[in-house]
Amino acid sequence: MAETLIPGLRRLFPEPDRGPWQAPALYLIGDDRLTLIDAGYDNPGGIEKIIAAVGTARLERVLLTHVHIDHAGGAWALRERTGAPVWAHRDEAPAIERRFPGRRIDRWTEPGETIIAGSFALEAILTPGHATGHLCFFDRGRGVLFSGDLVTGAGSTLIVPPEGNLAAYMDSLRRVRELPVTLLLPGHGPERRDARLRIDELIEHRRLRELCLAGCLLRGGPMTLSELVRAMYYGLIHPHLEGVAAGTASAHLEKLIAEGRVESSEEGPLTAVFGLTERGRAEAEAIFSPARTDSRGP
Ligand SMILES: [Zn+2]
Repeated sequence: MAETLIPGLRRLFPEPDRGPWQAPALYLIGDDRLTLIDAGYDNPGGIEKIIAAVGTARLERVLLTHVHIDHAGGAWALRERTGAPVWAHRDEAPAIERRFPGRRIDRWTEPGETIIAGSFALEAILTPGHATGHLCFFDRGRGVLFSGDLVTGAGSTLIVPPEGNLAAYMDSLRRVRELPVTLLLPGHGPERRDARLRIDELIEHRRLRELCLAGCLLRGGPMTLSELVRAMYYGLIHPHLEGVAAGTASAHLEKLIAEGRVESSEEGPLTAVFGLTERGRAEAEAIFSPARTDSRGP
């Protein structure tokens, strides 16, 4: 059930049936007074497993990394059962309003504050990108980072605007990369002891995706979002995933537009046409058609 990772720190997967990717990992910290990082889905079976893991101890708080349904869904059922207040960053307020109308956060977690949980001192670090008010929690003494969905143990993280912001995500990754992490405990997937390598993988994954997008616009010329998704992912993904792929492509477009590498016609999101700017084209040509760039001479 709850697995002890180190004394005073247990991990729970209350949703084993959803498979390794979807199943959120929850962390229970402390002995007789507990802090729970993330609450999982609002699923009675999952809630019972958490309550069983809490046992006779007192659940002091539920710390949310962000308010997606797989991390925050069960928070209010847990509050009802245990009285534990729910904490989250205030930038998640609009997402709470949208996903959990009428639900209340009891305490806004302040970036930079240290939360004492058992023998852990958890520093709250604001790491937007996957979600606007996403938080990681870092125990500096042990080098343990609870990374939520910023850094997953395997696979990549969904970045879909408007909550998702790729530029912010990359910045958050780079900041977290500098922390002296010896054990990374993600919101999904296995723990990682190679945090920096793992973060480098994620940064590289986005860089390659961005190159792929620029290459498609260079070869195919300006196109709509759905044309771009087909060009980028044709044959690579199941058609059911095209919506997700469109979200990812939008996140990249938003970042590239902000950087002046891509421009968009001033139309609605579905009919807008995206193309490389002069700068974006020059950079893409230097990568994809180096001979042609060279032949222009000095
Ligand atoms: Zn999430």
